[in-house]
Amino acid sequence: MIIIKRIKDTIENTIYDALSEIKYKPQHERVLIKPCIPSPCRVGTPYIASHKITAGVINYLRHQGIEEIIVGEGPLRDYNRTFVVSGYEKMCKEKDVRLINLHYAERRGIAWDYGEIQIPSLIFDSEYINIAKLKVHTSTTVTLGMKNQMGLLRKEDNKNIHLLGLHRPIAALASVIKPNLTIIDAINGEQGGPPGKHGHEVQGINLVICGTSLLSTDATAARLMGFSLENILHLSIAKDMNLSIFDDEMMGVPLDECQMNFIPLTDHRKIYNLYYHWTDETCSGCLGLMAEIRATALTHPWHLGRFIRHGLLQRIDIFTGKPKIIMETNGHIIGIGNCMLDIASKHGIPFVPGCPPRAVDVLRKI
Ligand code: SF4
Repeated sequence: MIIIKRIKDTIENTIYDALSEIKYKPQHERVLIKPCIPSPCRVGTPYIASHKITAGVINYLRHQGIEEIIVGEGPLRDYNRTFVVSGYEKMCKEKDVRLINLHYAERRGIAWDYGEIQIPSLIFDSEYINIAKLKVHTSTTVTLGMKNQMGLLRKEDNKNIHLLGLHRPIAALASVIKPNLTIIDAINGEQGGPPGKHGHEVQGINLVICGTSLLSTDATAARLMGFSLENILHLSIAKDMNLSIFDDEMMGVPLDECQMNFIPLTDHRKIYNLYYHWTDETCSGCLGLMAEIRATALTHPWHLGRFIRHGLLQRIDIFTGKPKIIMETNGHIIGIGNCMLDIASKHGIPFVPGCPPRAVDVLRKI
């Protein structure tokens, strides 16, 4: 069962109504809610699931008689700041629910296609609600619920999923961890910019999507974004794995009334003359470094001078992950991150080690 609900009244009430309409009934006495809050983004930005959606879910669960509700996420960095600036810490206090950092959660191994993977123990005996954000992604085209599950993993497993091929492991993870409910925050969204630019906000979508099947809910959200499922590898692999049917009963706003044309992200980001390239193997460690390099450049005149010379006045290409080709440019090229070691050695290009490397070491090299 899937519902696409337009936000009227308040976000909290809209969620409550959506869950009532699909007659969602929790099957466990304890509930773990896993919202997408990977990094310290402010309330309302299109990179995190709104705390108001989570608040609406909590209201609904309370009405269903659920007393033990836990909100948990394993952010990529700045754990405390992530919970504060996203509005989650305040909301959880007001609602009197526990907010936990999944990086510190007790874990248990579960068998999957690649051996065994460590999952927060809470998942095994709780109702599990996955709240994702409607946004594009550098490697997987869309993020949504299936990709949101990577936030349940230890950092080393998260990196390893990229090295295992990313798309199939995401689908394989969904075959062993199945949320009881998936919600996509489509209040706003993130799409790619013109070629070479990073994502920007799509405002005023004002929808939420709720469904009891992870795959069908993701498929609905991807269609809403205007993407063909055949082009979203992890979803089509999951479909081939028969994770669920695609034709779940639909309620609410008809898909063809709200379909949009999101622009996917490119495989690089360009800031002035600095080109930052990534591949499927590039995990959030090296992806997040781009912003850190820029921020670190502003902390010291020497760094800033280097950054202005290589990045503003002259072209520099920074490669991460495992690119198949290193194209010729008329500028300076460096490889960063341990994933790039073999390729950098093969092509004889300057290399910055680390997993991820430190921004200051990258600036010293450029
Ligand atoms: S080198 Fe970078 S991309 Fe590779 S695993 Fe480490 S942090 Fe991730």
